[in-house]
Amino acid sequence: MNIGYILKLGRSQAALRSSIRLSEMQTLLRPAAATFHPLTNSKRRIHVELKQKETPAVGSPTENKLKEINFPPFLKWLYGGDFNMSVLTYADVISYDRYYILQDQINSVKKFMSENKESIDSIEKRGVVPEELLIKIKSLELAGLLVPKEYGGAGLLKSEAARLYQELGESFTLAELFRMNELMCTRAIVLYGSDEQKDKYLEKISAGDMWTATCITEKNAGSDPLSIEAEVTLDESGSTYHLKGNKTWVANALRADLFLVFGQLWGRNFLGNDEQNLAAFLVDRNTPGVEISQPYSLTALNGLQVCDVSFNCEIPVNALLGDEEDGQKIYQSINHDIKFYLAGPVITRLKNLVDATVKHCLGRRQYGAKLAEFELIRLQIAKCSSYIYALESMLYLTAGLADVGEAPDTEMESAVVKEFAVIASDYVTKHCMRLLGAQVNVADSEWGAYIAENQVLHSWQGSSNVSKCFIGISGILNLVEYKGIDMKKYINAGHHPIAQLKHNFKIMREVHGWFPKRYKLENKVHPRLLNIAGQVDEAAHRLNIIAEMMLKHHGLNLQVHERNLEVLANFTIEVYAMVSVLARVSRSYVVGHQHAQCEMDLAIPFLAESKFRTEHEFKEFLHMSNYEGFPDFFYLNAGEYIVNAGKYCLVNPLTKNSF
Ligand SMILES: Cc1cc2nc3c(=O)[nH]c(=O)nc-3n(C[C@H](O)[C@H](O)[C@H](O)COP(=O)(O)OP(=O)(O)OC[C@H]3O[C@@H](n4cnc5c(N)ncnc54)[C@H](O)[C@@H]3O)c2cc1C
Repeated sequence: MNIGYILKLGRSQAALRSSIRLSEMQTLLRPAAATFHPLTNSKRRIHVELKQKETPAVGSPTENKLKEINFPPFLKWLYGGDFNMSVLTYADVISYDRYYILQDQINSVKKFMSENKESIDSIEKRGVVPEELLIKIKSLELAGLLVPKEYGGAGLLKSEAARLYQELGESFTLAELFRMNELMCTRAIVLYGSDEQKDKYLEKISAGDMWTATCITEKNAGSDPLSIEAEVTLDESGSTYHLKGNKTWVANALRADLFLVFGQLWGRNFLGNDEQNLAAFLVDRNTPGVEISQPYSLTALNGLQVCDVSFNCEIPVNALLGDEEDGQKIYQSINHDIKFYLAGPVITRLKNLVDATVKHCLGRRQYGAKLAEFELIRLQIAKCSSYIYALESMLYLTAGLADVGEAPDTEMESAVVKEFAVIASDYVTKHCMRLLGAQVNVADSEWGAYIAENQVLHSWQGSSNVSKCFIGISGILNLVEYKGIDMKKYINAGHHPIAQLKHNFKIMREVHGWFPKRYKLENKVHPRLLNIAGQVDEAAHRLNIIAEMMLKHHGLNLQVHERNLEVLANFTIEVYAMVSVLARVSRSYVVGHQHAQCEMDLAIPFLAESKFRTEHEFKEFLHMSNYEGFPDFFYLNAGEYIVNAGKYCLVNPLTKNSF
C-alpha cells in the first residue's frame, strides 16, 4: 500500500480501498491519531507534562469517581519513540468502594455458575442457552454493563465489565452471548443512536428483555466488509428504505429481537452521480421479509445459535443508525476497539484447563512417582501459567488505559490483546493436552471442547492475518503522522546531509549497542526487576527503530508488504506483553500481593523468553534485503509454485527418476 499516495490524497478512502482492500485499515482514517499530532501545541504540552511527572497518579483508589486524563495512545506513541511511563504504575483504576461492589457481583456470578452447572454444561450439546437459565441470570444484571445509567444500564468501567466477562467465561458460549450483545449492536446504539433509538432500545436491552445480533458477514464478504453486497435503496417518497441481502454467520440470530445490519446504501453524491456508501440499520426482527435459517451445528460456541439471515424488507427511515455515510465508522467502533474483552473468557477457559491438568498430574503416577514431581512437567505447567499471567496483565492494562482516557485510543492495544489471546490459547491448549495423555483422544471427551474453542478463536472476532496487518499499519501510519516531517529530512538525504548522518548514527548505535538510547525503565520498577527491565527497555526501543528503518528504507511512499506488517505486529505483541507483565509484577511485589514471589518467578523467565523472540525477529529484520527476509524470499517462491500447482506437488522421496 502506498502511504505517500494516501497522505497526498488526504487519506482518501478510495486510495485505501484501491490498494490493499483490507477494510480494517479504514480505522486509520479516524482522526484519533491527529488528536495527538506532535505539532499540535496543546497536545504537546500534555505530553511534556506526563514526561516531567513520570508517574502521575491515575485516579485515586479512595475516590469513587475516576479522574479521566488526556492519555496518549501507548503503543502508537511507542512507534514514535515515546514511552509513557505512567503505564508502569499498572492500571489501578477501581476505587475501594467500587472494588467491593464488583467483588459482590463476581461472587454472585460464581454462585450462579456453580448452582447451574448442569444446565450450563448442557448448552453446547443442546445447541442453545436454555431460556430458564436466561430468566434466572437476569437478577445478576449482566446486560447493559457499559450502557450509561441514564439509559438504564450499569454504566460500569471497562475494567469492571472485563472482569465480569472473565467470570462468565466458565461457559464460553454464555460469556460470548452477553459480550456480543453488549459490544456490537448495543455499543453502536450508545455511540451513534439518535435519542429516539436510545430511548426505544437501550433500557429494554439493559433489563435483559431484548436481545440483539449483528449482521456483517456475507457469502462474499468475510474479512473485508467493503465487499458487502446487501443493498439498501430509499423509496421515491423518501419515507422507507428497501433492504435486500443475505447475511451469514449471524450469532444469536434466533433469539435476537433487533438486528444491526450493514448494507450498501445507494445515494447521490454532490456531483449528482449515483454512489454507494456502507450504512448501518436497526431492523426489528418481526419486520415482514426477515427470514432466519436453522442454526449451524458448530464444534464450539454451538449454543450461540449462528444462522443465516435474509432480508427483503421495507424499513422506516428512522431505522438508519447515524448518518448515511457512517457505516464504516460504526463498523470500526465495534471492531478492533472491543476485541480485548474476548481475553476475559479465554483466561477463564485456560485457567480451568491448567487446573484440570495440575489435578491430573497430581493424581497420576508413572515411573514410581506422581507426574507432578517430574521436572519437565513442572516446567510445562509453569510456562502455561506464564502465558495466562501475561494475557491477564495485558487485558487489565488495556481496560485501565481505556478507562482513564478522556478520549481513549486503545484500538491497537485491543487488537494486540486479541492476538495474544490466540497465541496463549494455542500454547496452553497444546501443552495441557499433551500432559493429559491419551484420554484426550476419546471421542466426546470433555477435552474436545477446549480443542474446538482454541480453533474457533482464530476466526472469531477477526482473523490473525488481518489483525496483524491492522496492528502493523496503524503503527507505521502513526509514525508518519508523528514524525513524518522530521523523517522527511533524512529520507531526502541529499538536501539534509546532517540529519541523515545523525539518523544513521542513531541506527548504528542501536544495532551495535554503542551507548544505546534507552527509556530507563529500570528506575521505575521494583529493584528486583532491575536487570529484566533493561531487556524490556531495549525491546520497546527497538520497535521504534524497526518502524523508522522500514519507513526510511521505503521513503514516505512506503510500499507496505503484508510480511513487513506481520514482522511489526509480532514485535508489537511481544513488547506489549512484556510491558504489561513488567508493570503488573512490579506493582504486585510493591503492594505485597499474595503469591507475589510466584508472580516474580513466572514473570522473569517470561520476559527473558519474550526478549529472545524479539531478538530473533530483530536479527532477521536486519538481514532482510528488502524487508522480505532471507527465508521469506525462498518461501514466497515456493508458495507461488504450490499455489500455481493447486496442491502439495512434491514427489515422494522414494521416487526414482528413469532416464
Ligand atoms: C462462531 C462464529 C460466530 C460469528 N458471528 C458473526 C456475527 O454475529 N456476525 C457476523 O457478521 N459475522 C460473524 N462471524 C463471521 C466472522 O466475522 C468471519 O468468520 C470473519 O469475518 C472471517 O471471515 P471468513 O471466515 O469468511 O474468512 P475469509 O475472509 O475468507 O479469510 C480466510 C483466511 O484468509 C485470510 N485473509 C483474508 N484476507 C487476507 C489478506 N489480505 N492477507 C492475508 N490473509 C488474508 C484470513 O486471515 C483467514 O485466515 C462469526 C464467525 C464465527 C466463527
